[in-house]
Parts: sequence; C-alpha cells; structure tokens
Amino acid sequence: MKIAVLTGAGISAESGLQTFRGNNGLWEGYNIYEVATPEAWNKNPTLVQEFYNMRRKNVLAAKPNAAHFALVELEKYHQVQIITQNVDDLHERAGSKNIIHLHGKITQSRSTLDPNLVYDIQGWELKMGDKCELGSQLRPHIVWFGEAVPMIDNAIELVKNVDLLLIIGTSLQVYPAAGLATEVDTNTKIIVVNTEKIHSFSTNANVQFIQGNATVEIPKIVEELKVL
Ligand code: NAD
Repeated sequence: MKIAVLTGAGISAESGLQTFRGNNGLWEGYNIYEVATPEAWNKNPTLVQEFYNMRRKNVLAAKPNAAHFALVELEKYHQVQIITQNVDDLHERAGSKNIIHLHGKITQSRSTLDPNLVYDIQGWELKMGDKCELGSQLRPHIVWFGEAVPMIDNAIELVKNVDLLLIIGTSLQVYPAAGLATEVDTNTKIIVVNTEKIHSFSTNANVQFIQGNATVEIPKIVEELKVL
C-alpha cells in the first residue's frame, strides 16, 4: 500500500518538544510573529537567532518516541512517505527513509543571499556574524510565516497518489500544509490522530478520527496496517 504520513508538532510533544497551538498563540513564551517571520528577522535578528538557538538546543536533547519508531516499522510492510511540518530531526533519527520537511530543518542554516546554500549547523548555536561562502549572514533554515513553502508542490503530488493518508499531531491550521488533507483522491482513506478533536477539514467520507496520544495510537495503527 502507498501511505503518506503528515506529521505536526504533536508527534514530537511526547519527546519533550512543545507545540504552540493551545498556548495562546505563544511558542515557548514567545509571540510567533516576533520570532518566526521575515519581518521579525529584519527588525531583530539577534532575538530570532536566540529563539531558534534555544529550540535547537531542545531538539538536540530530545529523542524520537514510540510514534516515530512505529512509522519506521511501517516501512517494512508498505511504501511510506513522511511529510512533516516539524523542523526537528526526530523522524530522521528514528530511521524513516523518505521525509519531506515542509517548513525546513532547525539543524540547518541557510544563506540570506542565496537560498540554495544550506549548511548543517555544528552544535546548537548559530550566531550573528556566521556567514555563508558568499559572505552573507546565515539564518535558520526555517520556512517562516509569510514565506513560500517550496516543497508543497511535491507534497501535493505525493498525497494525490496514496491509498492512505495518516495525519498525526497537527492542528491543521497552518497553510498550505493543512490543505494537503483536501488534495487526496475521494477514495483515499484518511486516519487522523490527535489528543484533541480538530475542526472538520475534509468532506471525504473516509475520514477516521482517533483521539489519543501519538505514542499510544500510532504503534496500534501500525500493528493493524501490517496485516493489510
Ligand atoms: P500545532 O502546535 O499547531 O498543533 C499540535 C497538535 O498536536 C494539536 O492539535 C494538539 O492537540 C496535538 N497534540 C499534542 N500532543 C499530542 C500527542 N501527544 N499526540 C497526538 N497529538 C498531539 O502544530 P502544527 O499543526 O504542527 O503547526 C505548528 C507549526 O509550528 C508547524 O509549522 C511547525 O513547523 C512548528 N513547530 C514545530 C515543532 C517541532 O518541530 N517539533 C514544534 C512546535 C512548532
């Protein structure tokens, strides 16, 4: 079976990484518009770097959980494509093979002059004064609010051609990623796993909603999918 898995911050919550919906629009105490937009970067790049340095520190200290590992197990039985909104690297560290990061990766930096120049960050800190090979300041390799999502067209093509879309731990409030759920074929089954009920996002009659923690529900779903 061809399976696409759309993941959000909720899948990493039980690894100790905070989500931000449900915290009054704050992410770790920060207003996201003051740290995760191009305007924020233009206004106060030092604050933006500090914010992502702290997030990076947390990501490096976190470990993949049972939900990440169950998705790796699923690859033994089906063709699996992960499409994540997360900027952490827990899917990679768990061992998933096919991963698209819609919103970039916090473990990487990119040139402010040429967006194609992307580098791995050694350790947790990216500083003002750290430069790309062309001499321009490096920024976190993150798609900020208000920026284009270069990988979205690939993701749309992928979800159009699957038998199952598994949606885990996302509030489906951030577009265009949230729109992926409406791109699937009407015959495609959709399974949604979330601790909280999320708003109705699809007219697809094949939607199954499972309320619960990703680390509990995903291993169970994977067990069931093994025999299909
Ligand atoms: P979100 O914070 O908007 O929503 C998280 C969702 O996960 C909520 O609906 C919540 O009910 C659910 N959830 C929480 N704990 C769960 C659990 N244990 N099991 C299952 N579901 C659980 O996250 P989003 O929809 O991914 O959008 C937020 C944006 O913020 C993304 O673009 C992402 O890039 C960024 N972000 C990333 C990280 C990360 O990389 N780990 C963390 C926070 C925010």
